[in-house]
Amino acid sequence: MDRPTIRLRDSLRREVVPFTPLEPDHVRMYLCGPTVYDRAHLGNARNVILFDVLARLMRHDYARVTYVRNVTDVDDKINARAAETGRDIRDITEETLGWFHDDMAALGNLAPDVEPRATEYIPQMIEMIEGLIASGNAYEAEGHVLFAVGSYDGYGKLSGRSLDDMIAGARVEVAPYKRDSMDFVLWKPSDDGTPGWDSPWGRGRPGWHIECSAMSKALLGTSFDIHGGGNDLLFPHHENERAQSCCADPGAGFAQIWLHNEMLLVEGRKMSKSLGNFFTVRDLLDQGVPGEVIRFVFLSTHYSKPMDWTEAKAREAEGILRKWRELATEGGTPDSSVLKMLRDDVNTPGVIAELHRIAKTGDGATLAASAGLLGLLVPEMGAWAEAQPGGIVEAVLEARTTARAEKDWARADALRDALVAAGVVVTDGKGAGWEAGPGFDPSKLEGVV
Ligand SMILES: [Zn+2]
Repeated sequence: MDRPTIRLRDSLRREVVPFTPLEPDHVRMYLCGPTVYDRAHLGNARNVILFDVLARLMRHDYARVTYVRNVTDVDDKINARAAETGRDIRDITEETLGWFHDDMAALGNLAPDVEPRATEYIPQMIEMIEGLIASGNAYEAEGHVLFAVGSYDGYGKLSGRSLDDMIAGARVEVAPYKRDSMDFVLWKPSDDGTPGWDSPWGRGRPGWHIECSAMSKALLGTSFDIHGGGNDLLFPHHENERAQSCCADPGAGFAQIWLHNEMLLVEGRKMSKSLGNFFTVRDLLDQGVPGEVIRFVFLSTHYSKPMDWTEAKAREAEGILRKWRELATEGGTPDSSVLKMLRDDVNTPGVIAELHRIAKTGDGATLAASAGLLGLLVPEMGAWAEAQPGGIVEAVLEARTTARAEKDWARADALRDALVAAGVVVTDGKGAGWEAGPGFDPSKLEGVV
């Protein structure tokens, strides 16, 4: 069968390459999932949305897709949170994972096909580490097992760093038992108060990187199609994962495409607690920003560019989605131009431009089916656009009609001004109608009547 080609940006080759799954008709992809100790911040949602759109496209084009997104539920950040709060580790990880699921679903992301937890794959991690010791790629020292970076020629290729640069740039305190300062931990000892598992090297716990190497191998095999995450994971996490996996199974190749998304900015600045512009997905949802609006804003920037979250973009997105939702009808099929854009390195801003074009033609069925490939205009995401803002606009319009009937022109004018300020376009005629104009923000009408 002649299949349309999907092209993706591979971080290892540093170019956009044609994608062909290793197994025909079966796409296997792995996304590094959350470390569950705190609410997901806004930036954490970006790679989840990217992989969700990619999985939707792959499911459209291929018979079978296995999308794995892990949960890191053993990590020193979790241990530290438990120590700070005096809470049980399991309570923290379960609660945080529940939040993560809720927040990602609110942004319109479908669940991955498999969601392995690191603590369920400890035997596979131990087995992989034993193999790396046997092959001379790792060594035991003082209850730790370390990966010897000097044993792998390809180390640094993914992140584009030379070992010398890394050593010069490293600010880590070098443990005396390391043979090389860049050697990293595969296994470390646990004291009585820290989660631990029996191993050939004593009671201990895995390092973060080996978790993903073991889980991806167990669920997707020694080689699979796409591995991704935020570009903050490129080094050291993905560099180290790749070194471990390529040494554990030489010749298998591990991931054939590495897909990384750029970072998130807020109003042009890096999100940080010290700048006071740090917020979680839940913060935005609680402020009343609909999940679909957040998703639209994310997708309006290509994943390979920094995405600037601004309130102005959110307001604009809300107005667009509201109009499109009024137009959308069931029963269409995605427009070929939209599929073409998606297959071209997940060009979501290009898709949105096409959606604007389709909306102008008035074809609501094609619009809805096409937007559905982005997870937009789907019925389960639309509750926000129903009565709630319409209700407040209607109430103000009704008050204006009453004021006019009572010849209270001052009040009628004041209400009209309030409607204009909220971006409502009043279409007077037989009964006052209205539509959402640019900058539509019904919250501005709160308290007007
Ligand atoms: Zn990972």
